[in-house]
Amino acid sequence: VLDLLIKNIGVLATPKGSSAKCGAEQNAVDILQNSYIGVEEGLISCVGAGSVVPDARKVIDAQGLLVTPGLVDAHTHAVFGGWRQHEMELKLSGMGYLDILAAGGGILSTVRSTREASEDELFEKTSSLLKQMLAHGTTACEIKSGYGLSLDDEIKQLKVINRLKKNSKQDIAATFMGAHAIPGEFKNNREGYIRLLTNEVMPKAAKLAEFADVFCETGVFSPEETKRILNSAREYGLKLKLHADEIDPIGGAGLAAELGAISAEHLIQASDDGIMAMAQQQVIAVLLPATSLYLDKPFARARYMIEQGVAVAISTDFNPGSSPNFNLQLPMSLACIKYKLTPAEALTAVTLNAAAAINRANLLGGAEVGKQADIVIWNCPDLNFLFYRYGNNQVHTVIKKGEIV
Ligand SMILES: [Zn+2]
Repeated sequence: VLDLLIKNIGVLATPKGSSAKCGAEQNAVDILQNSYIGVEEGLISCVGAGSVVPDARKVIDAQGLLVTPGLVDAHTHAVFGGWRQHEMELKLSGMGYLDILAAGGGILSTVRSTREASEDELFEKTSSLLKQMLAHGTTACEIKSGYGLSLDDEIKQLKVINRLKKNSKQDIAATFMGAHAIPGEFKNNREGYIRLLTNEVMPKAAKLAEFADVFCETGVFSPEETKRILNSAREYGLKLKLHADEIDPIGGAGLAAELGAISAEHLIQASDDGIMAMAQQQVIAVLLPATSLYLDKPFARARYMIEQGVAVAISTDFNPGSSPNFNLQLPMSLACIKYKLTPAEALTAVTLNAAAAINRANLLGGAEVGKQADIVIWNCPDLNFLFYRYGNNQVHTVIKKGEIV
């Protein structure tokens, strides 16, 4: 007898397998009509079709609706103090993202509020945000530090992420991103900050994180500096990620391939060579279309990346500056509208490929036997509908590890 049976599924749509899908494979989503999913001990133990269903202690009737794996948000900065609504007008007056940062705003403004906030305050705030994300279908996510930018404040953020890991419903991956900006007190001493990161913060941060990420960008960290910081991270056992080629094409995509990073993020300006190198080294592209929309910037060349054999994941980039939205359903629709991905490709991008980008593709990102029973029932009759409607929350029911949450 099963612990749980989800029956009367109209359309079950899921990518299959335990590694990222690239090229034509990204579009190869399994569609099973009139189906059911059985759950035992939090894992999917059977998937089938037809009206004869196994016995279960608890039954959920999916009412003929669409069912997919829970969404995985592989790129967020969800632990932060304050918000940045005052920058809306600066942006409207024509000030660019990097101009605001250079004037001490942007990331540095969030750094001030994050330093002022206590560990408990940050924990409570992000707990509440994670509950809302769950209600929008996000059953796993990555969270980066990078608003502390000092030994104590980076460790404080990482401790908050680790407390959230224990106390939230979601699976959470922690990324150390002390190299998110140069803090004000090191404005004239870049070298000093990089040495602080690699010599003092990294050894402690590595015990609290799985990944390290660097904002490789004009005016932030150069490719050479990025390389030094990530090589240090690797020595401490962290897997590597890069914010690469978001605003200026400075070779971040190629660098991600050279360093053997698990993923490179943003990639709006990534060069043909960089994309080719990512395909060869199987670096996952984590694309963030809601950020392009919000900053009124071009959109990454997702279609080209898929054609070149790069596995594409889509995430929110949830943060208080360039993407104050945690609803992954918005970037999912943008992936179709702006990137010209098919709904099937976009589904793979927010489930299996996103799970692979946080090194969890063996357990998350698919509705198939052996994977964790993270399931969303949508108020949609089929997969197209999920991407066609946008702006509203289309979640009907979220199931995490076999429990309705
Ligand atoms: Zn980011």
